[in-house]
Amino acid sequence: MNDENDLLGGKRGIDVIHDPLLNKGTAFTEEERERLGLRGLLPPRMHDQQLQKERVLENLRRKTSDLEKYIYMVSLQERNEHLFYRVLVDNLEELMPIVYTPTVGLACQRYAHIFRRPRGLYVSQADRGRVAEVLRNWPQRDVRVMVITDGERILGLGDLGANGMGIPVGKLSLYTACAGIHPRQCLPVTIDVGTNNRSLLDDPLYFGLQRERLRGEDYEALIDEFLRSAAQLFPRAVLQLEDFGNANAFRLLTQYRDSFCLFDDDIQGTAAVALAGLYSALRITGGTLADQRVLFMGAGEAGIGTGELIIHALRAEGLAEREARQRCWFFDSHGLVVAERTDLSPHKLPFAHAHPPAADFAAAIEALQPTAIIGVSGQAGAFSQESVRAMARINRRPIVFALSNPTEKAECTAEQAYAWSEGRAIFASGSPFAPVDYQGQRYVPGQGNNVYIFPGVGLGVVASAARAVTDEMFFTSARTLASLVSESDLAQGRVYPELPRIREVSTHIAIAIAELAYDQGLARNPRPGDIAADVRACIFEPNYPRFA
Ligand code: NAD
Repeated sequence: MNDENDLLGGKRGIDVIHDPLLNKGTAFTEEERERLGLRGLLPPRMHDQQLQKERVLENLRRKTSDLEKYIYMVSLQERNEHLFYRVLVDNLEELMPIVYTPTVGLACQRYAHIFRRPRGLYVSQADRGRVAEVLRNWPQRDVRVMVITDGERILGLGDLGANGMGIPVGKLSLYTACAGIHPRQCLPVTIDVGTNNRSLLDDPLYFGLQRERLRGEDYEALIDEFLRSAAQLFPRAVLQLEDFGNANAFRLLTQYRDSFCLFDDDIQGTAAVALAGLYSALRITGGTLADQRVLFMGAGEAGIGTGELIIHALRAEGLAEREARQRCWFFDSHGLVVAERTDLSPHKLPFAHAHPPAADFAAAIEALQPTAIIGVSGQAGAFSQESVRAMARINRRPIVFALSNPTEKAECTAEQAYAWSEGRAIFASGSPFAPVDYQGQRYVPGQGNNVYIFPGVGLGVVASAARAVTDEMFFTSARTLASLVSESDLAQGRVYPELPRIREVSTHIAIAIAELAYDQGLARNPRPGDIAADVRACIFEPNYPRFA
């Protein structure tokens, strides 16, 4: 990857311009144009990347809707990846909401309608028995990160079938933008097993399989064949499961985490970002983690994953498991998760405490007196005025995290959290909210999104060639992320670092993860003398290569 002329792979002329990782558009130098047979194929005057970036921003900012901006950015990625990442990295605060949540949610809902060019790999039931052959069609051999979905639970939007491809594509763009994983090393995958979304099945432009979701043994066999083939063909790749339905997500993680280098971002990545937010909030409230009582709204992948990581953290502080579990309470679509309920799925059982039932969230707050409420239910408005007011009555500084995505699914808005708590809430949300001015003071909500975690964890795993992704790694990434929150962030109410610092954040997390992998004997690479320098050397910078 270092010798830039190797990138050409013998390509010349129009083939260079049509390859998004080689194309530099008007930025090819005179010398390159001569050497690569580009004379006449480009306008004569040369522009540098900076000037090209300004043209992109000018065009982009003229678009009147976020979806149009998304389409424009994806088209740029398909033409010129270095320029796409240069623009994205230099304008993360403006563009992350376009290439990722919330706009990526809308893009997935319309994916088949805004379709220009395929991106990523589609595997379906029709490929049973020859998934390896399909994987071999992928043009890159040195894949290091795969993001895999079956489209069943896309953000908080539900089953979007093959339209869910927007998520692996978007997440991998963030691996490159936020942690510098080389774009050639990224492989987005959608396993199309059908959809139960009637409106997609009725849509003539929908391009996924027109059938109900595959379930049971056939589903399991397809996923199993896929994971085995992927691990065999791309043995150095970390496999990230993304936006699978609840039951499959827990089962796949349990079944495969010890056999493959694999993690589930919704369960484990979200957990780390939520725990980091709690650690930061404690710097404001002054308590310890063991002093907290956390009530989750939603007991799915994100909620239970976070609960389990909090238990891990409390155990590390010396609490017994039983005591630790008493710190985490859950409320799901049927009310408070308590021991006497008979409808609980296995992952909720360890959190089903002996307590009278409660069907109302505000009543559960009154009964349990939590210090923090964490929304991971995908239910807009689930934090009512009454709930937030109750939190503000019980706590001097109530912790209120509304982590559901996209923005319209947040349990409450930033403005509501601040207004209903008279400016005392420590608020974070999964999708970005603008700063809020309330009674003469400006509050800046933090974005509690796993984008602060997975790129750094991935980079650390890639740099060390770790053979597994462990809970300890997510615990470490949470602590590292929290340690990077400054006093000035906290003074503004933000429990995460500013977004423009995310490459620095991911690098710190990656170094901590690589150190852990070497210390715990999980790394397949030999331990380098300088781990930090070794991690930094893996980072892709979106500056143009020079084909001298
Ligand atoms: P999931 O389907 O596994 O879980 C959803 C949970 O919400 C279930 O326990 C369900 O019972 C509960 N629920 C549904 N309706 C409810 C209601 N009316 N009242 C109370 N509980 C209700 O989904 P998940 O993977 O846990 O994701 C949930 C949400 O969290 C989604 O909106 C997702 O976008 C968001 N999320 C955010 C991040 C982040 O980084 N901020 C990461 C992952 C997931």
